[in-house]
Amino acid sequence: MFCRNCGKELIGNPEICPNCGARPMSGTSFCPNCGAPTTELTEICPKCGARVAGKVVEKAGGAWMPLTAGILYLVAGVPALIFGIVLAVGLGMLGGLIGGLGGIPGVGTIMGAIAVPMIIFAIIAIVGGVFAIRRRIWWLALAGSISVFLAGLPLILPAIFLGIPAIVFTVMGKKHFK
Ligand SMILES: [Zn+2]
Ligand SMILES: [Zn+2]
Repeated sequence: MFCRNCGKELIGNPEICPNCGARPMSGTSFCPNCGAPTTELTEICPKCGARVAGKVVEKAGGAWMPLTAGILYLVAGVPALIFGIVLAVGLGMLGGLIGGLGGIPGVGTIMGAIAVPMIIFAIIAIVGGVFAIRRRIWWLALAGSISVFLAGLPLILPAIFLGIPAIVFTVMGKKHFK
């Protein structure tokens, strides 16, 4: 893209133009698509045909995606965390009982540890969800959505109905992240 204030070509989507210090989309002097000069009255760039005015409104469309994805993460992540902890404690106690009956130490720890990945994925999902709602750090949000999928995998349905939409919304909503 090009800075709308000074016309410099920018790499990625910086919040602040490194050349002039303004927000790249705040000006009206240049086309953000090709860098051709424009005025504040220009709606369609005469050089490349890109829509110049109304760009902000256009960008707002689909901004619900990261929010929806983030809410999905939390809806999936919080129960997964509780379930994971309950499972860890339950399996740990069960394993301890089995180990105790058989006189084998450490069985409780091993069985309890089986639920640990679920707890870890749930925590990543919750952290990712918070970042998705705030539309920051896209890769962390993506990691969160994949974690929703992985945390839900043992129960299959949460992975399909929460994890996959979370990944899709995060990928589709990428441009709305800062
Ligand atoms: Zn600039
Ligand atoms: Zn243009």
